[in-house]
Amino acid sequence: MAKLTFLGAAGSVTGSKYLVEAAGKRLLVDCGIFQGLRELTERNYQPLSIDPRTFDYVLLTHAHLDHTGWLPVLVKAGYGGPIFANPATMDLTALLLKDSAHLQEEDALHPQKEVRGRPERAPMYTSEDVDPVLRLMKPMPRLGEFEIDLVYRVASYDAGHILGSSSVELTISENATKKVMVFSGDIGRYDQPILNDPHTPPSVADVLICESTYGDREHPGGDPAAQLADIVNRLVRRGGSIIIPAFAVGRTQTFMYYLRQLEVENKIPRLPVYVDSPMALSATDLYLKYRDDHDVEFTNIDANGQGDPLNVREFHLTQTMEESKAINNVHTPCIIVSASGMVAGGRVLHHLAHRLPDGRNAVILAGFQAQGTRGRALQEGAKTLRLFGQDVPVNAEIIQMSQLSAHAGRSELLRWMGGLTAPPKQTYLTHGEPVAAQSLQEAITAKFSWKVSVARYLDTVEF
Ligand SMILES: [Zn+2]
Repeated sequence: MAKLTFLGAAGSVTGSKYLVEAAGKRLLVDCGIFQGLRELTERNYQPLSIDPRTFDYVLLTHAHLDHTGWLPVLVKAGYGGPIFANPATMDLTALLLKDSAHLQEEDALHPQKEVRGRPERAPMYTSEDVDPVLRLMKPMPRLGEFEIDLVYRVASYDAGHILGSSSVELTISENATKKVMVFSGDIGRYDQPILNDPHTPPSVADVLICESTYGDREHPGGDPAAQLADIVNRLVRRGGSIIIPAFAVGRTQTFMYYLRQLEVENKIPRLPVYVDSPMALSATDLYLKYRDDHDVEFTNIDANGQGDPLNVREFHLTQTMEESKAINNVHTPCIIVSASGMVAGGRVLHHLAHRLPDGRNAVILAGFQAQGTRGRALQEGAKTLRLFGQDVPVNAEIIQMSQLSAHAGRSELLRWMGGLTAPPKQTYLTHGEPVAAQSLQEAITAKFSWKVSVARYLDTVEF
């Protein structure tokens, strides 16, 4: 009998970890960190309830840290098997883990002193813990079938969420019977620039494990380019700057794409854009390498970045902390993209400490802001933000642009699920806060009449 245990992203959006057990083999799907509420982040420091030394395989749906960021801890705890991922996910995971480790090291040098009255925890891992993870990574095909062993066969589908992002169909063979488990991974958007639409999922599933991040919400409509032009022009007129909390790859390129387009069309003035990251790189290289994942046309990029639709003309990469701090001396309007996306840590903290008190500035929140993060506090209209042990007044304008989200909205999730031609015998909703997951559960019951439940943390279910 196959078993599935929800070791994370059950009742929360972060910490994705699902353990599948069949025929004496254990396979972990994703290995993410928890972010946000203290009761969640505390789990990052607790050992798993099942010894990782007994796991046989790890399989990644995509590179985001809430799906990969706990790998260094897993490997430190003795996991030594293969970590399967497609080539784009391998490259991105390497980048994001190194970035995350550097940022944790930097955070430790500039401690926050306390988080809600309790001392801050030490870094979960440092840069030297990342290489052992990368050595275990084994490439698997971007699309189509791949046999892990006689028990597990995987088929991958483009999930349209970030480069390399996949939904996976896991066929489990045990005692001459076959069971199909489908993991949605994070599902992207339909009819958006840059990335492909999410592929139609496999037609049949015994068990469906589906994300529910925006299960209770639609993204607002309207033309994001026009809205962004309004914001930029308004900010430039009042001499302000824009801070975008984000890691260097992913949503950053969506912003770049729109900004570049607006520059070319002379709808905004040229202004400097700083991508502030220890692993700063021109993501263009990755997009050039993985052309099948997107529909961006690159035309003869010259030394000044002309012909590169993912870069604005005045584009700066900053790597060291000194370069990062030097951005504080820029007093003319500029755009700063800096991690982390939910303002849980990273260099964006010092940019906010410097620029939040000035009402001419703005912060654009585009990604999902989990409960308990500073990003969520800003989204909910906090008047002050706790940064480096001080309450910093929030006078800057806080702008929500969830139409630039990389996650499917409620009807897009239902559209994706509608690709399954037969009802799954059981559906579990994961990767969503309780309100979102419950709301999606009701919608699925109303629309498809499927048997669907909200996954509970540490529950084990059998098939
Ligand atoms: Zn994701």
